Amino acid sequence: MSKVTLESLGCKLNQAEIEALADRLVGRGHEVVGSAAEADVYVLNTCTVTHIADRKSRQALRAARRSNPQLRVIAIGCYARRAPRDLARLGVVDAIVGHPEDDAVHTAIEGDGRVRTTGRTSDSPRGWSRTRSLVKIQEGCASFCSFCVVPYTRGPGHNRTPDDILAEINDRVARGHKEVVLTGTKLGDYRWNGHGSAGLPELVRRILAETKVERLRLSSLQPADLTPELLDLWHDSRLCPHLHLPLQSGSEVILRRMHRPYTLAEYEGAVRQARQAIPDLSITTDMLVGFPGEADREFEESYRFCESMGFAGIHVFQYSKRPGTPAATMPVQIDDKTRKQRSARMMALGKRSAGRFRSEFLGRTMPVLWEDLGGDGLWSGHTANYLRVYAKSDKRLAGKMLAVRVTGEYADGLGGEMVVGGYDG
Ligand code: SF4
Repeated sequence: MSKVTLESLGCKLNQAEIEALADRLVGRGHEVVGSAAEADVYVLNTCTVTHIADRKSRQALRAARRSNPQLRVIAIGCYARRAPRDLARLGVVDAIVGHPEDDAVHTAIEGDGRVRTTGRTSDSPRGWSRTRSLVKIQEGCASFCSFCVVPYTRGPGHNRTPDDILAEINDRVARGHKEVVLTGTKLGDYRWNGHGSAGLPELVRRILAETKVERLRLSSLQPADLTPELLDLWHDSRLCPHLHLPLQSGSEVILRRMHRPYTLAEYEGAVRQARQAIPDLSITTDMLVGFPGEADREFEESYRFCESMGFAGIHVFQYSKRPGTPAATMPVQIDDKTRKQRSARMMALGKRSAGRFRSEFLGRTMPVLWEDLGGDGLWSGHTANYLRVYAKSDKRLAGKMLAVRVTGEYADGLGGEMVVGGYDG
């Protein structure tokens, strides 16, 4: 039996896969440990969504090998599926498995250590948290946005059965997890057509009815997913008032070239309806800057649209060519310097926008699910609408849901004082 350390790069889906892999490894008698230095095996769930993600994956694999030359290094996930030979050429990887759920992951961990390439991969729980647990409900996407490599690496949709998902959530809750985040490549596409057909609203309704999870969060949705049927479910306060709605561009022309399935008016309308239906809702987004053909005018439109939306957070990505995608061969590729400048401006806007949103909660008392104690002696955790909060306490708060009165602001969150007793919402 081995000591295995797991790491995951990229999206929440990768993290969910690494958590599930950790569970399976423990079930087979392995020990999951926190660092490569104390491990026999290192497994990285790679990401290939941008060239920067590729680089980070390669760096993590090399760093693991450097930190412990005896380590068996295994690469799994999207990069391992897209370009296994590139990873093999690094000379530091002992096995490459495309899919985390493939039995070949176990063979690689328990086997003879020769390099194999199966077109499938696995991952790791750095950031593995006993408070928040990520549960995969589907994977794959058939949308083929023109910049995105994911439909090629993960293929079309594959859905887990509602019973499977409910069993996993009940298991996580029994082990002390207070919050579950439903993850998938395209969560809104979730469909189960077996016995008892279900879409995402029906699945969420069943989770709320049939589990005791204290907080349920949805990882990422598209405007068209926000139907009255789905929004109605937020009457249950266990469903977190936080939506991640990737916008990618605030220019109509660029959205079309990206093959995104909504107009700006549709996006704006969905946000308006969601804000009406869900009190204290925070909306975060992804923005892709420097897409081919994004002239100054389109970038300015995009910037102004984002400014008007009052986002609680903006994750900014610089466009990079992904081989085999339509955008890679589009004319007018944007140069490096311009992409970096736009990224810096958009990130600065994201910080201001997040700060403005957070400041609306000054003076409020809110429940926080506490996570970590930092080196500065401050505990940190998140509110249901995903605001980071810091507070001092002599007690061990990890994994506890306790109220805080918000009294100030930090660069990336709010500061507060612990409250004895309930909260005023
Ligand atoms: S919706 Fe678009 S960006 Fe998202 S995974 Fe599918 S193709 Fe990629």
